Amino acid sequence: MAERYKALLLFGAPGVGKGTQGRLLGQIPGMRHVATGEMFRALDRQSPLGRKVNEYSSRGELVPDDLTIELWKQHVRGLIESGKFSPADDLLVLDGIPRSVNQAKAIDPHIDVLGVVHLATPNIDEMVGRMKLRAQREKRHDDADEAVIRRRFAVFDAETKPVLKHYKPKLIKKVKAVGTPAEVLMKVLEAVVPLYKKHFGNPLE
Ligand code: AMP
Repeated sequence: MAERYKALLLFGAPGVGKGTQGRLLGQIPGMRHVATGEMFRALDRQSPLGRKVNEYSSRGELVPDDLTIELWKQHVRGLIESGKFSPADDLLVLDGIPRSVNQAKAIDPHIDVLGVVHLATPNIDEMVGRMKLRAQREKRHDDADEAVIRRRFAVFDAETKPVLKHYKPKLIKKVKAVGTPAEVLMKVLEAVVPLYKKHFGNPLE
């Protein structure tokens, strides 16, 4: 079997702060953040692939599983080839994937999941508010419209929540996503640092 990348999954509803926490973790030596939402948004929206992806994301729907997994594999291979991810030395911090049980099964041969950080939602209305602000700040088309945001939550409940059951309960670390990004980060690090050390040691030694 091909090499399985040691991975941490950031799991949680849209807008809960996976991207913020993922970007912060990605600053730490030995951790590589990969967000599928960002990967999709980086595609040229005029290209056939970009147009296809946008058909789904603009409606708050999931991009089809096959396409998502294929693009993710290519993306990670690209990171390895360009020296931005070293599977022997780095923990892959996955944000936004897997987002369906099918994706979880399809990605299993490629990742060795060391832990799942479940960022738990405060309340939906607060999240919708946060997402609208983020849409303005980051010019995100998918979150500019409240109906699309609500659709994203419905998709999360129906398709993404069941993903948690795919992983052994002892892998799942629940973190309340309330407070400042730094406060949430402290709790995330409490869960992640021991896992990291157990599998990689000290990256600077
Ligand atoms: P995000 O930035 O993670 O909120 O993702 C934005 C949009 O990208 C989602 O609403 C989906 O349309 C699409 N997307 C991101 N990750 C996935 C995934 N793993 N599977 C399917 N669609 C995804």
